[in-house]
Amino acid sequence: MRFASLGSGSRGNATLVEAGSTLVMIDCGFSCRETERRLSRLGRTAADLSAVLITHEHGDHVRGVPLLARKYDLPVWMTRGTQRVMRDNAMPRLQFFNGHTPFSIDGLQVSPFTVPHDAQEPCQFVFEFQARRLGVLTDTGRMTPHIVECLDACDALLLECNHDADMLATGPYSTRLKQRVGGPLGHLSNAQAGRLLSQLDCSRLQHLVAAHLSDSNNRPELAQAELARVLDCEADWIGVARQEAGLDWRRIA
Ligand SMILES: [Zn+2]
Ligand SMILES: [Zn+2]
Repeated sequence: MRFASLGSGSRGNATLVEAGSTLVMIDCGFSCRETERRLSRLGRTAADLSAVLITHEHGDHVRGVPLLARKYDLPVWMTRGTQRVMRDNAMPRLQFFNGHTPFSIDGLQVSPFTVPHDAQEPCQFVFEFQARRLGVLTDTGRMTPHIVECLDACDALLLECNHDADMLATGPYSTRLKQRVGGPLGHLSNAQAGRLLSQLDCSRLQHLVAAHLSDSNNRPELAQAELARVLDCEADWIGVARQEAGLDWRRIA
């Protein structure tokens, strides 16, 4: 199994997971054309996709989904809650999952789990293939016992480090937006991501990648330093999925 990011942050998110001949994309917050460009950068095309999985309906996660799904006749999986509030939900091969029931796509096991975030029915995912586990968590306001249980003992983790609490407090956002981002249904700070990480069994961890970093309220080296402190490793061992550059393929051995 391997994974990569087309880009990560408040201006668009999309993650690839490849296992054997199965290729799934989690979210697609870029325009159709931009998605095609970013896929080709990773050596793939939209026609290679087995399915698209949606975490929640925010624009930075679904912007390109309907058009891409129609153009390439792709199966798109989402919760009923997400589907209810998608502005454009005319997709030819729409499929539903619920946040407590694992399913599989061509041999890749997908275990959704529910998260507290200000969306209708937001979920994140753990992927399993040949006894390897990849956990993806990009939009959650806080850590819950359920999240800790679901993400335990992963071989690779893509983990939200949205903001540095001090940078958010003194940064350019309005008071209302600061409260939303920093609140229990917003996004994880570096410190919150670190606390979550400290609760997990990391003995199998081969890759840790910080994701969904805010341009205005975070810096990659702050997120890396926080996660490295928890793992007691070198800061540059921690990967960062960038808004423009994304993240190159990472193979889980
Ligand atoms: Zn969101
Ligand atoms: Zn987001």
